[in-house]
Amino acid sequence: MELLPSGAAISSRDFATELVESGKLVYIDSGDTGAKYLALLGPISLPVMIGGRGRTSFLWYIFSRFSRNDASCFTSENPVNSILTYGLSALKKNDALKDEKALPLIRLHSGCHTGDILGSMRCDCGPQFHEALRRIVENRCGALVYIASHEGRGIGLWAKALTYLLQDRGYDTYVANEVLGFPTDARTYGDALAALRHLLPEGRREVRLLSNNPAKRAELESGGFKVVEMRKLVVGVSNYNVNYLASKSRRGHNISSTDLGAAVSSAGLPFMQTGEVHTRTLQGQQKGEE
Ligand SMILES: [Zn+2]
Repeated sequence: MELLPSGAAISSRDFATELVESGKLVYIDSGDTGAKYLALLGPISLPVMIGGRGRTSFLWYIFSRFSRNDASCFTSENPVNSILTYGLSALKKNDALKDEKALPLIRLHSGCHTGDILGSMRCDCGPQFHEALRRIVENRCGALVYIASHEGRGIGLWAKALTYLLQDRGYDTYVANEVLGFPTDARTYGDALAALRHLLPEGRREVRLLSNNPAKRAELESGGFKVVEMRKLVVGVSNYNVNYLASKSRRGHNISSTDLGAAVSSAGLPFMQTGEVHTRTLQGQQKGEE
């Protein structure tokens, strides 16, 4: 490990200038004239454990909106979103460009505090996140765009919690939004796609999309990408979220009843009541302690 030379202090302003000059902090044209500056910071090396099966190195970028572009912005009042990339630099080589298998696999992952962080099984977001990273590595190149501003399909975490209370009274996930005066889907993709365009090699716009949602394909294609192939992502289904996923299926997501049945079986939690799950978990813990 190299140590910094003693006394090599750097001011925050000099650091920001250095980041801009080295290309690690860029302000990119999102094509959106109404909103200020879209900044992209990275790459930053990020070793990630996927499914407890070992470490994979991704490159991490973040992007956010700023009101100024004078390289002095160290805090953002706007949502900060992430992109994890894998193998994209190989696409810059001509021989890789000719390889059909080298098409980048893209996941536009809507951030989910409860599913991704708390491990909630009311949705399938957490398992989808980890499986998406695994599939990107398997595909040899791709990117997962983690759109934090998409919480609760764009209505925010507070509002999402309110809709959960309505869902507990039997409301459908989309109807619960409408009852509270929120749109059923308020997500926008402009900044995410602008950042993604910047990270792919120039002129390289053919991608594979990992999603069940045809609206995401439409968003990518309206953003200048060509979706050559769409791959389904049905994982983490249980009795806790099968109704939620069935609602998505009725709203046009590419999820069949066969998908749900097969996934529930493979998830190992086939339609158990809460008490049964709790009991089984306790038994497992006790065995582990013996
Ligand atoms: Zn979720």
